[in-house]
Amino acid sequence: MSNDPQHIVLIGAGIMSATLGVLLKKLMPAARLSIFECQDKVAAESSDAWNNAGTGHSAFCELNYTPLVDGHVEIGKALGIAENFEVSKQLWAYLKETGAVSWQFPFINAIPHMSAVWGDENIDFLAKRFEAMQKAAIFQDMRYSADHNEISEWAPLLMDGREAATLLAATRMDAGTDVNFGAITRGMIEYLESCENVDINLGHSVSGFTQHANGRWRIEIEDLGRETDLEIDADYVFIGAGGGSFPLLEKTGIEEARGYGGFPISGQFLKCTNPDVIHRHLAKVYGKAAVGAPPMSVPHLDTRYIDGERALFFGPYAGFSTKFLKNGSYMDLPLSIETHNAWPLLAAGIKNVELAKYLVKQVTQSREDRFAELCVYYPNARIEDWELITAGQRVQIIEKDEDEGGVLKFGTEIVCAKDGTVAALLGASPGASTSVSIMLEVIARMFPDEINSRTWQSALTEMIPSYGTSLIDDGELCLSTRARSNAILELNY
Ligand SMILES: Cc1cc2nc3c(=O)[nH]c(=O)nc-3n(C[C@H](O)[C@H](O)[C@H](O)COP(=O)(O)OP(=O)(O)OC[C@H]3O[C@@H](n4cnc5c(N)ncnc54)[C@H](O)[C@@H]3O)c2cc1C
Repeated sequence: MSNDPQHIVLIGAGIMSATLGVLLKKLMPAARLSIFECQDKVAAESSDAWNNAGTGHSAFCELNYTPLVDGHVEIGKALGIAENFEVSKQLWAYLKETGAVSWQFPFINAIPHMSAVWGDENIDFLAKRFEAMQKAAIFQDMRYSADHNEISEWAPLLMDGREAATLLAATRMDAGTDVNFGAITRGMIEYLESCENVDINLGHSVSGFTQHANGRWRIEIEDLGRETDLEIDADYVFIGAGGGSFPLLEKTGIEEARGYGGFPISGQFLKCTNPDVIHRHLAKVYGKAAVGAPPMSVPHLDTRYIDGERALFFGPYAGFSTKFLKNGSYMDLPLSIETHNAWPLLAAGIKNVELAKYLVKQVTQSREDRFAELCVYYPNARIEDWELITAGQRVQIIEKDEDEGGVLKFGTEIVCAKDGTVAALLGASPGASTSVSIMLEVIARMFPDEINSRTWQSALTEMIPSYGTSLIDDGELCLSTRARSNAILELNY
């Protein structure tokens, strides 16, 4: 790419494109950035606070990040997620400290993260998990209790109406957070709008691509307001279209996109409408997922702060829809099936019978069935205090596999062309919490030489002071970095 300044197109105005835009503007101040978003507002899909659970995923409470393998609790994945969240906090702290972004409401709030389990086997697992995790500095200060009185102090609703004979145990990390990812996204996009050489185009849907012989991309865009089509050329393209990334990646025609398919699962929550109940609970309490349930369906009773208001949610309940986006089309799934991904999709379907059974059960649930699940976490709940709301769509990745035909994946995957000119983000977990680390990885894949330059390294260290050092290996640095970010973000634990 010899053009200078370069033109980079970011598709979608969710947290991923917003984060990438902020990082790139610092690294390449002269570059032109164009963001195209099909909705008429920013963060209208998964990044909106009402469309996700707002958990700052740090692996403090999510039991699916610490599997039991041969009698031992593996904490490697949890360490990585906890470190990535501290990286995100550093960028947000930088934006706040430098005044680049001004947020109307605190977008991140201190909320203890708890895990709660019932029955001998689960209690044994939680005790082993606690023992393994508390050795790492990043999980220092985790507490464990099997005492009803103490657990009742930590989370009164959990014990309200519970039989005294119930065997249960819980862990608690005070350093947990609730995050309004929509507010972060809007703040970052407002900041980008104030920068030179950035244009934000709402109501513009990207519909196709052609790569020129010189490597540049022609991008076809529908201007939905004016009902006209336009074409622009760019040096680099990032597809951060959430569930809409699958069809767009296919349209690039790049070799690396072959064999991928997407399977949408929607989320619903029960939202508490009784202010007295909302104010009796101050924690995110995560339990164990049901058999066959996908990892992101772990039930949780969750304090939230949305635009300054405290709220209480329980869920998620999984739903099935053929839409890839909440505001998408029912034809999204059928139209995404092509010859290159038909077999991986079918093979993954055959191998995930338990998931299919689980989804059928979830979709056919009555109001009473959903309420019964809530009562496992809050035995004295009253059905009239809760209403059902629909959150966002997650599109799980189905990837071609030599041995198995196709495998269903619940993580996040970056697909990048060999020449680095186009990259797409697929999947949605652990999601927005780790957006900064994921976007740093996208930058490393698209700009492998530049990222190692002294200028880029120093700009990255200015934004993310721990950049290049492991917060897992360096416990002291981990704790001082966390303390610094918490102070700037006004997280008073
Ligand atoms: C139910 C649920 C609960 C979740 N809970 C959590 C949680 O607790 N913690 C956490 O960290 N993460 C959570 N996540 C995941 C998190 O919300 C996502 O990982 C994150 O918001 C994804 O951001 P994004 O920018 O990739 O996508 P999005 O926010 O979906 O943004 C993509 C944008 O692209 C636009 N777009 C799509 N197609 C086109 C096109 N053709 N042209 C132009 N624009 C287009 C869309 O309109 C949208 O605005 C949850 C997700 C769901 C669904």
